Amino acid sequence: FAINMDQLQLDEELGKGNYGTVKKVFHKPTKVAMAMKEIRLELDEAKLNGIIMELDILHRAVAPEIVEFYGAFFIESCVYYCMEYMDAGSLDKLQGDGVPEHVLARITGSMVRGLKFLKDDLQIIHRDVKPTNVLMNRKGQVKLCDFGVSGQLEKSLAKTNIGCQSYMAPERIRGESQNNLGTYTVSSDVWSLGLSMIEMALGHYPYPPETYANVFAQLTAIVDGDPPELPEHFSDISKDFVARCLHKVPERRATYAELLEHPFLVEDSKREVDMPGWVAKAIEAREARLREQQQQQQAQHAAQN
Ligand code: ATP
Ligand code: MG
Repeated sequence: FAINMDQLQLDEELGKGNYGTVKKVFHKPTKVAMAMKEIRLELDEAKLNGIIMELDILHRAVAPEIVEFYGAFFIESCVYYCMEYMDAGSLDKLQGDGVPEHVLARITGSMVRGLKFLKDDLQIIHRDVKPTNVLMNRKGQVKLCDFGVSGQLEKSLAKTNIGCQSYMAPERIRGESQNNLGTYTVSSDVWSLGLSMIEMALGHYPYPPETYANVFAQLTAIVDGDPPELPEHFSDISKDFVARCLHKVPERRATYAELLEHPFLVEDSKREVDMPGWVAKAIEAREARLREQQQQQQAQHAAQN
């Protein structure tokens, strides 16, 4: 059946991205908590309908490592997209000062299996692999969201906003893998996976904006510089795994099948890792940081008055 706005009770905001807002909602008929993304698009009804139809293939994207899709609809010039609510949120806000190696291995395994499923079973390339698109729940599950299924939606979002955090592979920044049909190869996602791993390990984006005079200098560092590496305290096996993802030459990057056979993930599958325990602590730390921020803001506000 199709979801519509009348069935939803709107709850708190979960986050904001470059293109829209994500809210927690309650689907009254099924009593399921969902996350609803609102994307404002200046498009006519036919185009909006096209997007809703293209999004329909998401109903087939059912796997343990993929955020479940419940349905999409549009009202006026906004597309609304309902998906599984992940109660621990995205990795960018969970990573804190950096995730420990065993947790990183567990997260990476899920990401690689999710990406491989999308590619092998649905012929979908993600195109937007980054920590904000890796979600977790308190059960310790790791799932991917926001992969590119709608050409029309992608076109309409007009990627004008390169942003100060680019997860794009060097060949994409240079514009090589973009032939006139706009194809994008799976190896570009492998680069973004490697870069996301380093961000999760460090607790911050590996090409910190404050190091570069401008976005151009930052992108130049990605294209011309040596690929970043995991911090010192990580094992050689984990460093090798990341190096297999972050080759500057796309053809030399590992495939998902190769990554799954890498000792970094093979060892992970033999280990016990307390993911629910780690998530609980990460949420506590996130909430403490938030409280501290709020106190600072209040103090600043008081000082101004
Ligand atoms: P960008 O706009 O560059 O893609 P983004 O991924 O952060 O950045 P959104 O996809 O709009 O932007 O998501 C905003 C935030 O909402 C995310 O960072 C995440 O913390 C939260 N969020 C998104 N989807 C869910 C979900 N299904 N469950 C819980 N939280 C979510
Ligand atoms: Mg997102």
